[in-house]
Amino acid sequence: MSTWSETGPRSVDEHRAAVAALLAPTGVERVALTDASGRVLAEELAAAVSLPPFDNSAMDGYAVRAAEVAAAAADSPVELPVAADIPAGRTDVPPLAPGAAARIMTGAPVPDGADAIVPVERTDAGTARVRISAPADPGAHVRRAGEDAAAGQALLGAGTVLSAPQIGLAAACGRPDLAVRRRPHVLVLSTGSELVAPGEPLAPGQIYESNGTMLAVAVREAGATAELLSFVPDDVERFRAVLAEKMAAASPARPDLVLTSGGVSAGAYEVVKDALTGHGVEFGKVAMQPGGPQGCGTLQLDTASGRTGVAVATLPGNPVSALVSFEVFVRPALRAAVGHPDPDRPIVTARLSGDLSSPAGRRQFRRGILDAASGTVAEIGTPASHLIGALARADCLIDLPADTTAVAAGEPVTVWLLEV
Ligand code: AMP
Ligand code: MG
Repeated sequence: MSTWSETGPRSVDEHRAAVAALLAPTGVERVALTDASGRVLAEELAAAVSLPPFDNSAMDGYAVRAAEVAAAAADSPVELPVAADIPAGRTDVPPLAPGAAARIMTGAPVPDGADAIVPVERTDAGTARVRISAPADPGAHVRRAGEDAAAGQALLGAGTVLSAPQIGLAAACGRPDLAVRRRPHVLVLSTGSELVAPGEPLAPGQIYESNGTMLAVAVREAGATAELLSFVPDDVERFRAVLAEKMAAASPARPDLVLTSGGVSAGAYEVVKDALTGHGVEFGKVAMQPGGPQGCGTLQLDTASGRTGVAVATLPGNPVSALVSFEVFVRPALRAAVGHPDPDRPIVTARLSGDLSSPAGRRQFRRGILDAASGTVAEIGTPASHLIGALARADCLIDLPADTTAVAAGEPVTVWLLEV
C-alpha cells in the first residue's frame, strides 16, 4: 500500500474526510438543564404536560361571564359581587357562580363558569363588589390549556442544538435534565524546546507557548473538552511516554483525540513525526496554505493496559497554520462527532476590497475582515503564517481555491465567518 507522502499532496477535502473518519460518533449522557447549553440533544423532547397546563388569565383583572358584562360602558358600568380572589398558584379555585365576578391575577387558573377576563384598568378595582366599565368578548385574555403544545406533542428533535429558549422549553415541560451527546475529550499537546510558558522569563532564542492555549480554547469553543499539556521538550521518548500514559487512562480522562502542534515539518528535531511515524499516524502534505504539513491516523502504542489506539491529528507549529488547520480539519470533525447539524462555519460570498494573488495548486485561507454592510472583505496581514496579531484581529477566512492565482478587487470570494 502506498503511503500518503508517496501519492503526493492531498486535497483539503481529502484530508478533511480523513480526519473526520478518525472520530466515532460520541455516546449519550444525561445533564442537568443548566449544563445543557451548546449541547446536541440526543432524544426527542415531547411535552409531558400541556402548555399551558390549564386555562389561565393573561391579565390582572376579573373573571366574568362575557354575556353578563355585554352592556357595560364607562357611563353605565355593570356592578357584580366579587365572589373569590384567585392569585397565581391557587390550586383550589371554586367555580364562578352566575351573577358574580372573581378577582384574578395573571397566570392564575380561570374558574369554571367564567369565559372572559376584564382587565383591572377597565374596573374600579373593587374587592367586595366591582364596577366594570367595558364589555369583554368571550375568551378575552384567557390563555387556553394546550394552545402552545398539546400533552404528548413532539417539541424538539434529536440533533437540536440547545440554547436558552430550548432549555427553557424543557424546563416548562417539567424536565430536570436532558439526554445529550457526550463531548469528545481532546488532549492538546505542544512540542518545541524553544517554548516557554507565559508568565515565565524569556531567554534569548525562546518564545512563549501560544498554540496549546489557543487550541485548547478552540476545542472548547467547538463543543469538546480539552486537557492541555502545555510543554513537551523535543524528546521522542518522553513524548511517547506522555501519550502512552494518557491513553491508558480510564474514560472520561482518556482522550478521544490527541491534537498536537509543531514538530511535523521537514527539519530535524521533528518530534511528533519522529515519535508517531510507524505507529499508525501518517504524515504528508496537504495542498493548502497555511497548513501544508499535516498528519493524522489512529496511534497504536503499547501501554500498561495493553496495546491501545487513539485518534491523532497533528497540526503545524506556526500559530496561524495551527489555528487555520484546526478550523479546516478539526473543528468540523469534532462537531460532526457530536451530531451537530451544522459542523462547518457559516460561509458567505463577499467582494474583495483589493487585488490578491495566490500560489497555483494550493488552496489558500487568508485572514480577512468582513464589512457586512457593503458586502466586501479585506485581507489583514500577509499570507505569512507566524502573524498571530493579524489572526487575532481577523473575523473571517478568505477561501481561495487551489487553481486560483489572482483575484481582482471587486470580484467575489468565499468567506468563512469565524465570529458567530
Ligand atoms: P515546528 O512546526 O515545530 O517546526 O514549528 C514551526 C514554527 O512554529 C516555529 O517558529 C516554532 O517556534 C513555532 N511554534 C511551534 N509550536 C509553537 C507553540 N506551541 N506556540 C507558539 N509557537 C510555536
Ligand atoms: Mg518545533
